[in-house]
Amino acid sequence: MSRTNRSSRISRREFGVVLAAGAALPLSAATRSQAQSQPPDYVPPPRPLVAEVAPFSGKLEFTSKRIAPKVEAFPMSHVRLLPGTVFHDAQEWNRGYMSRLAPERLLYTFRANAGLPVGSGQPLGGWEQPENGKRSSELRGHFVGHFLSASALLYASTGATDVKARGDFMVAELAKCQQRLGGAYLSAFPPTWWDRLAAGQRVWAPFYTIHKVMAGMFDMYRLAGNTQALRVLEGMAAWADAWTASKTHDDMQRILAIEFGGIAETLYNLAAATSNDRWAIVGDRFQKEVFITPLALRRDELRGLHANTHIPQAIAAARRYEISSDTRFHDVADYFFQEVSGARSYVTGGTSNAEGWLSPPRQLASEWKASANTAECCCAYNMLKLSRHLYGWEPRAAYFDYYERLLLNHRIGTIRPHVGTTQYYLSLTPGVWKTFATEDQTFWCCTGTGIEEYAKLTDSIYWHDDDGVYVNLFIASELDWQERRFKLRQDTTYPESQHTAITVVEAGPRPLTIRLRVPGWLRSAPVVTLNGRSLDASAAPGSYLAITRTWKDGDRVEMELPMHLHMEAMPDDPRTQAFLYGPLVLAGDLGNDGLTAAHIVGPNLRVGAAGVEQHGSPLGPVNQTPPVPDLEIPTFRSTGSDVDSWIKVADQPMTFRTAGQKRDVTLIPLNRLFDKRYSVYWQVA
Ligand SMILES: [Zn+2]
Repeated sequence: MSRTNRSSRISRREFGVVLAAGAALPLSAATRSQAQSQPPDYVPPPRPLVAEVAPFSGKLEFTSKRIAPKVEAFPMSHVRLLPGTVFHDAQEWNRGYMSRLAPERLLYTFRANAGLPVGSGQPLGGWEQPENGKRSSELRGHFVGHFLSASALLYASTGATDVKARGDFMVAELAKCQQRLGGAYLSAFPPTWWDRLAAGQRVWAPFYTIHKVMAGMFDMYRLAGNTQALRVLEGMAAWADAWTASKTHDDMQRILAIEFGGIAETLYNLAAATSNDRWAIVGDRFQKEVFITPLALRRDELRGLHANTHIPQAIAAARRYEISSDTRFHDVADYFFQEVSGARSYVTGGTSNAEGWLSPPRQLASEWKASANTAECCCAYNMLKLSRHLYGWEPRAAYFDYYERLLLNHRIGTIRPHVGTTQYYLSLTPGVWKTFATEDQTFWCCTGTGIEEYAKLTDSIYWHDDDGVYVNLFIASELDWQERRFKLRQDTTYPESQHTAITVVEAGPRPLTIRLRVPGWLRSAPVVTLNGRSLDASAAPGSYLAITRTWKDGDRVEMELPMHLHMEAMPDDPRTQAFLYGPLVLAGDLGNDGLTAAHIVGPNLRVGAAGVEQHGSPLGPVNQTPPVPDLEIPTFRSTGSDVDSWIKVADQPMTFRTAGQKRDVTLIPLNRLFDKRYSVYWQVA
């Protein structure tokens, strides 16, 4: 029976039920006022409900039609970090780590796979391990792709020609491997693994791995001008076209159950860069319908999914929207971002536990307890990337509140000071500690995204539209807007300091607007001065303060960013609380009882969780964490309505201490805490 027939003799009570069931259908203002103004015995005409249409039923058709972004990030080559900050330090520590990885070692498995001489270097270990008796990694080659991307990003960020030369050398050597393998296919593992993938047999993640190499080639072309890299990528894309074209639609959907990363995004990028729709059509074969369909319908069915397998798919959806204007993909990326950032992220901005989303949305206290492996670093890397796309479509300051939260708490502070190695998970379990990759025997996925992240800290500080510049991040740096002959310098040691200063170095010929992001965490509109005088204009936290004028060389805008202590509770448990100082998440120092060098470097805190696809290493026991003594985690009693009634500023900078508790604890920013056990969340009565 159709709903329309039934509605013709519907009772008033039933009508109310139908309205509730159709709550997703917005009532127009006219309809609403009519319903309210009718006499009580009025029976409204039937209101036919339209059946839900599956957004991705039928074959995907690609038509090239680019959107016009409202704002764009300045190219990294226009921005330079200034020394003396945690950001510049992180860039340099990462540069140091990359420089210690010899290209001969990175190329080893590719040359071996192509039957070329492997040279004198020793192969790398961990997830890059070649065949060696029982030990080998099926992900080998992934890190080499990241290394190409990181080389391109670091060259764009610094202009360092040695970094570009090393990347160029690797592209040339990998091109030789590709030629030896027939001129299209390129990887560090044998083609038989693709047969296993097609047959549904166990294999780690071959598309994930070659995507990294394809993305590396694209970045070497896009950011370092290497046209050989473009030709290598086109060969790989042609191979991917042939392989996927030989499969049915249903076969491909089954194959997409195995992690394939952001390969569609790279294919869309290639399509846009070469104006060749062929590559977008190949990219569309990597659209996983069971993932994107609920998102396009704005339904959170993320529970049980592997987190970092799917974030790159949302980025691919964002890119698909940008090059085709197909709003279904806009909705996929937009809803996914809102849900992960708003309902599935911990206080640091990090998401996932045991690499998955384990709970329904907003039940983070439950998910948090499931394992110690909260918040995979790759997820942070990829969520930052996704938020950039969404910000370009609609430049809301809130995106950069989120961005800053992740950047300050989950990226700065997960690179090992001076050494430059990085973390896998940023655990939020009470009593844990930070663990870092070994120099050359680890190569987690997060080691790969790590070397990219710290090579592109110049990205997204400054954005622009036709009117002027958006200052989104408070990082000491210089911007050279060559097209407008406008240069500025930002001086700050934020977040160590609570203040930033923008100096116009070259004013350019035309008036221009500078928009300063006023962070959402501020308690009130900040004091902003221009050349030492307070501005009349102000802006509320979570918006932009726009200053338009004909600038003069030496003009100086300063903004105060006063931080205060505040609390954030788990959404499903108000007694599980974390504390922040401004944008900085605080961690309690719980000493270093039981920690050895073996805990700090090398171990993998991976602990499985039921019901989640595992992406972690099959290398097994070599990565197990040594045991540590049990630790009693202090609990607190709140003695006032404000946090600062019982957490006090201590005598060291950026240091706090609880007061009047059974056992008092010193708190410092999580991003400054190393080689200690810590807690971020506490039980507060
Ligand atoms: Zn990872």
